Amino acid sequence: KTESFFRDTWAEVNLDAIRENVMNIKAGLPGKTAFMAVVKANGYGHGAFDIATDALQAGAEFLGVSMLDEAISLRRSGISAPILVMGLIRPRDITVAAKWDVAVTAFQEEWLAEAEAYLEKGGSRISCHVKLDSGMGRLGLRTPAEAKSFAKKIKGSANFTADGLYTHMATADELDTAYFDEQVKRADELVGAFEEAYGSEVGWKHCSNSATALRFSLEKYNLVRVGISMYGLAPSPEIKPVINQELKEAFSLHSKITHVKKVAAGEGISYGATYQTEEEEWIATVPIGYADGWIRKNQHGDVLVNGKRAPIVGRICMDQMMIRLEGPVDIGTTVTLIGENGGAFLPMDEVAARLETINYEIPCTITPRVPRCII
Ligand code: PLP
Repeated sequence: KTESFFRDTWAEVNLDAIRENVMNIKAGLPGKTAFMAVVKANGYGHGAFDIATDALQAGAEFLGVSMLDEAISLRRSGISAPILVMGLIRPRDITVAAKWDVAVTAFQEEWLAEAEAYLEKGGSRISCHVKLDSGMGRLGLRTPAEAKSFAKKIKGSANFTADGLYTHMATADELDTAYFDEQVKRADELVGAFEEAYGSEVGWKHCSNSATALRFSLEKYNLVRVGISMYGLAPSPEIKPVINQELKEAFSLHSKITHVKKVAAGEGISYGATYQTEEEEWIATVPIGYADGWIRKNQHGDVLVNGKRAPIVGRICMDQMMIRLEGPVDIGTTVTLIGENGGAFLPMDEVAARLETINYEIPCTITPRVPRCII
């Protein structure tokens, strides 16, 4: 691991796992399906540049981000692969997208007109992927009439080319597929309407997030946008048993014990003294806290020390927390909060369940104060 920081709390990002996941997921896709590695939000908190680089090496053809700033940051780091901004950019920033050769998402006629006004007629060619709202209710054209009208506008544009048509699934990670099936039906209709008015097929058609890509084979679509499962995580606990795909978690979180002591029975630990020792107990201090994104709700969880579980005791502080050990250990002993330690494994999903949230949220909310080490 890199040693360019001076604290003993760090996250490890296993790029071999990323490469394996990309290759395995790709191998399971029909024929010539292309792979967009979704690296928004700093690669779901893993580090966008490293993830992007390795995903591309492993066979990804596209990168997906949420905003223009994320795309530019990748370009500045030297990444030349096609990038799609999946959120909406401001019309006035279209010249910036053109300068950095970044594809944008489009679906509003007023937006198109405003963006065009910033461009020289017939000057920069802007690649766009047109967004269809088949049931997510977030962004996109909602009816075949809207799709047709927008297709004509793009067709008549001096600058914009529709290189892609896409939609996003709201319930692909649920066992009940009724809403999903309805979305696929609507998406097919919207794609059909758009292409009819556009007068030709659009090159890239995509609707699959990880859950969709791992569960369904949608032959009209030739590109998948994979985020969470590239990072080695199942899109939901519910579909974990049905996705039949080996995934390797890339992110792990570790710290090192800074203090160990034997505490007499009946002593209080941490703010509020809410934890009271019942007997003589070994208590260790670990330098991670809520300012690292290790929020107070983790108080009722375990960590791993020397391959064994140890409970967190008392309230989590801003920068530190305490754990209970069976006996003394050396200062500097590694504590694993997520991942593998001494042959034991504490999965990301356990932390997500503890915090009553989804696994996506965990690496995203471990703050930049925790260095990410590439292994
Ligand atoms: N496509 C879009 C538009 C998204 O917003 C996301 C992420 O939320 C993804 C693809 C990737 O989804 P997942 O991480 O579930 O694979």
